[in-house]
Parts: sequence; structure tokens; C-alpha cells
Amino acid sequence: MPDYLTLDHVDPRGKRVLLRADLNVPMRDGRISDTSRIDRVAPTIRELADKGARVIVLSHFDRPKGKVVPHMSLGQLTDALTTAVGHTVRFCATSIGEEAEAAVETLTDGDVLLLENTRFHAGEEANDEDLARALAAHGDLYVNDAFSAAHRAHASTEGVARHLPAYAGRLMEAELDALKAALEQPDRPVGALIGGAKVPTKLDLIGNVVPRVDVLFIGGAMANTFLAAQGVAVGKSLQEADMHDTARAILAQAKARGCEIVLPVDAVIAREFKAGAASEAVAIDAVPDDAMILDAGPKTVALIEEKLATLKTLVWNGPLGAFEIQPFDAATNAVAQAAARLTKAGSLKSIAGGGDTVSALRHAGVEHQMTYVSTAGGAFLEWLEGKTLPGIAVLQDIARNALPL
Ligand code: ADP
Ligand code: MG
Repeated sequence: MPDYLTLDHVDPRGKRVLLRADLNVPMRDGRISDTSRIDRVAPTIRELADKGARVIVLSHFDRPKGKVVPHMSLGQLTDALTTAVGHTVRFCATSIGEEAEAAVETLTDGDVLLLENTRFHAGEEANDEDLARALAAHGDLYVNDAFSAAHRAHASTEGVARHLPAYAGRLMEAELDALKAALEQPDRPVGALIGGAKVPTKLDLIGNVVPRVDVLFIGGAMANTFLAAQGVAVGKSLQEADMHDTARAILAQAKARGCEIVLPVDAVIAREFKAGAASEAVAIDAVPDDAMILDAGPKTVALIEEKLATLKTLVWNGPLGAFEIQPFDAATNAVAQAAARLTKAGSLKSIAGGGDTVSALRHAGVEHQMTYVSTAGGAFLEWLEGKTLPGIAVLQDIARNALPL
């Protein structure tokens, strides 16, 4: 029995398939500014429709907090979803109750229906049993294709799976396969590059990653905390002074486990945090008191590139510098391009995730040149932390108890 069931284990023809997608795309001025999430789930919807399923799509959108908020309606995504799937998608302005039931009733094989934002009901985030049952009543099967929402035990991600035969969709499958290749059964040597700014949350993550990897690169503002914890003067750099003990404990744990830690050996500093600010590269022990570290320096980049060339697998979360502001994108760009080159050459499996990490890879022009880029931010991080993701745990529970299909 596999860990979880997939679309290879079921014939959905003529079945009402309740598909949980994550259509929570970013919007700017009433337009979708990045359609990635729609594009990545579309093949699963198309496959189901082509196989003759009656597909009923569920998703949350934004944070309406249990109330109907008109500008957070999923209706505004219907056209984009139709385009991405290549089948006309109908929309129903509720997700439960008579109107939704009637809309489901009218579906014929191969039709696709999008129901309204699940978070318009307070029961969604509360994982309310009645809401889960009402949603489950629309379907014969449940398919979860929303890895990026799997870290939340909500009615449409977890509760509903307890009432129907439940399967992982194609995107969920791809995400889980990539994560397995990253840390569970990686080709070795395996390295992790952890950067970015969310130091307090990511210290747990580093603690989980250390015993699993051969090399750990620490970059971004994260590195400042580790450097400062070892007595390096970091001037006015962003860092967490109350986390020095934790940082030292992680370094000791790494030493005991034989995990090599790579910290910056030089840094690009500036006095102002703005585009085009005067900046220079200095050795890591020469950061002036009135300066901030905003990027890794060229020697650090060369060191990371050299070590990357010896790895078979790289897991990456968090940029190496304040990449949104030039020239502090240089180290992130260079390392991203090096990872892309090694991936293309076939020597490296590169797996990346995290909201800003994906933006940084896109900025470096290599978003599509990694082996796998996760659609998830929070779920990817929680997975790296070694936490159980409720939306996945339920699929595994069901697979373990599943009867032959
Ligand atoms: P992700 O969203 O991929 O998990 P984070 O949210 O942890 O990543 O971190 C991304 C942010 O970290 C970016 O906005 C970037 O500007 C910031 N950052 C990285 N390095 C530094 C630094 N040295 N100083 C200040 N901010 C930094
Ligand atoms: Mg972020």
C-alpha cells in the first residue's frame, strides 16, 4: 500500500469529485498578478474532467475571516481557471446549501464547477464537523491538490477527507515526491541553504534540517544571528539578539552530527536600506558599527558555488540578501544561477520553496530551471521543520485503512 492514494488508484468517470485546490493567487488592482497556483492545479482538473468526472472545485481565497466579503469572491477567478484548464468552468456563489446542491445536481460528466470561497464560513478555519459534512455531501470522492494549504486542519482540507474516499491530486503528488527526494531519501551529499529573515520561526527548521544534511549554508539575516552568537560584530544588521543561545546550540548539534555549517566569510554592507545606497564588500570580521549587512559578499558566493558543485541534492529556503533592493540581489542571483547550471548539467537535484524564495528565483530568471519549486510557503516551511501536515496525515490514515478499490 502506498503512503497515500492518487489518481492512479481510482476511475473517476461519472463520479462527483470534490477537488480541494489552492486558488489563493496574489491580486493587484483587481487583476491576478501571478497565476502560478492556478496554472499548477489546472492539469489535475483537466485530467479529471477528461476522464469524465464531474469536478467540483473548492478553495479558500484571502482572509475573509468567516464572513462574506464580496471582493474576496472566487467568482473573479472563473475566467482565469477556464483558460488554464481548457474547459468551461461554471461558478456557484455559495459552497454549501440549496443553491450549491442544485449547481452540483446539474453537472454532467466532464463538467467543472467552482464553488465560492470556503472561508466565507467560520466553520472552515474551525474545521467544523457540520461544514465538513455539508461539503462532503457534494462529492463521491475527495481529491486534495492543495499542498500549500495542507498545514492547516480546516474543514475543506482535513475534515472533509474523513467523510469520503480521499486521494492526493497530481500537484500534491509532485510536491510530496519532491520533498521526499529533498530530505527523506535524498541522493547524497545533500545540502540545505537556509536564508531569509524569519529567524525565530526558522531556527526550529534549522534544528530539524541539521541531522538530515551533510552541509548547511546559512545566509541572509539568518546568518547575522549565527555570526553575532559567535562574537562577530554585525553592526546595525538585522539579527535576533535573544536567540544567540539557540544559534550556539544548533552549531554544537551540527558539529556533533558531522553536518558542515557554511556561514558567510564576507558581506556587502551599506548605511542605508534603499536602492542604490552606497555599498561595499568587506570581510565578515570588518563590519563597521554603523553599517548593515544586506547581502553575502563575492568570496561567500564563490565558497557556496564550490561546495554546490560537490552536492547531489540542494534544498533551498530563504534568499541570501535583501534581494528586492539592488545591488543586494547579487549573491542570491549568482547562487540561483549556479544551482540552475548544475541542475541543467544533471549533477544537482535542486528543490526550493518559500514565498520570497520563489520571488527571488524568478527575479534571478531561474524559477523554471530548478528541479522542483514548491507552490507552498508556510506548508513547505512546516514540512522542513519536520511537522505533521494535517491535510497529508489524513490522506495517509485513509490509505492505511483503505479497502481494495
Ligand atoms: P521565505 O518567504 O522564502 O521563507 P523569508 O520571508 O524568511 O523567506 O525571508 C525573505 C526576506 O529576507 C526578504 O524580504 C529579504 O529582503 C530578507 N533578507 C534577506 N537577507 C537580509 C539581510 N541581510 N538583511 C535584511 N533583510 C534580509
Ligand atoms: Mg517570506
